Amino acid sequence: MKKRDAHKITLPRVILRGDGVIDKVGEVCQSLELGKNAIVVTGPTTRKVAGDRVASLLKSSGFASQIVISKGANEENVEAAKKGDADFIVGVGGGSVNDVAKLAASDKNVPFVSVPTSAANDGIASSRSSIKRAGSKTSIEAETPIAVIADIEILSKSPHRYFAAGCGDVISNYTSVLDWKLAHKEKGEYYGVYAGELAWMSSNSILSNVELMASDRIEGTKLLIEALISSGVSMGIAGSTRPASGSEHMFSHALEVVAPKPALHGEQCGVGTIMMAFLHQADWEGIKNALERLKAPTTAKELGIEPEHLIKALTVAHNIRPGRYTILRDGLSAEKAEHVARKTGVI
Ligand SMILES: [Zn+2]
Repeated sequence: MKKRDAHKITLPRVILRGDGVIDKVGEVCQSLELGKNAIVVTGPTTRKVAGDRVASLLKSSGFASQIVISKGANEENVEAAKKGDADFIVGVGGGSVNDVAKLAASDKNVPFVSVPTSAANDGIASSRSSIKRAGSKTSIEAETPIAVIADIEILSKSPHRYFAAGCGDVISNYTSVLDWKLAHKEKGEYYGVYAGELAWMSSNSILSNVELMASDRIEGTKLLIEALISSGVSMGIAGSTRPASGSEHMFSHALEVVAPKPALHGEQCGVGTIMMAFLHQADWEGIKNALERLKAPTTAKELGIEPEHLIKALTVAHNIRPGRYTILRDGLSAEKAEHVARKTGVI
């Protein structure tokens, strides 16, 4: 390996997936010797779903646990989660709770345990944290969770919208990997074959099992969780978000900036994947059909976003992450952006 390809690989040490595995949270924290004091970060709703349960399970295993309620992925909640004595932080909730807890743990330099209550994005097992800073969402490098406890009983009961968004986030690896290969070919960027194939496989596991995903929520959730974790792991192996974040993610981040009311991350990435696959001259129709079958949004209207905001996002997406070379290259003109959105039926 060339020296410039050197990077650190960080992965979770324990992953539990199954019905009722939440009851093992105390056992897991004991076995990892994380210390005595825990901060449990949870949301107002997810507290009732699982947050209180995790706090009391930790107490009965001999930990001192303190609950912090987070109402959104912003700096204020990260600061609140950092207050108090903690040897480790447990995030019990959806994507934004996870983002807050992960970043707080990283800032405090303590381990982070991820207990997702919905499967809406691949942040559940990755080192990436998405936080609102100065009005817009930014992706910040944080610590990879030391443990992931994915209770299927809880996850399979979360609203369908989150499930569909999670599918969109995994499917988006389809264009992330194409972008990565393109950057390798045209710019000589390092391409990690294993990480790339793992990310591709995560996407493919959903695309080739759409019928199962759409008809059996329990089996679908099991598959989705594994795909989301594999996607997170592919980033851990690559040492960057490259395998699971390409032009479609840049489009989603651009929507966060230009649209007054953005949709869910995974929903936006799914729609982005349709359009970026079109630009790659890949199977964008297959992606669109799969998302439709999963009842995930495939149009601006279904995202609740005005066509003009969507086009604007397409034209500025290439600036979102300077240095990340993708199919957007130097950017799309407004005419080209409109053409792509119309041809794919997004607007
Ligand atoms: Zn994502």
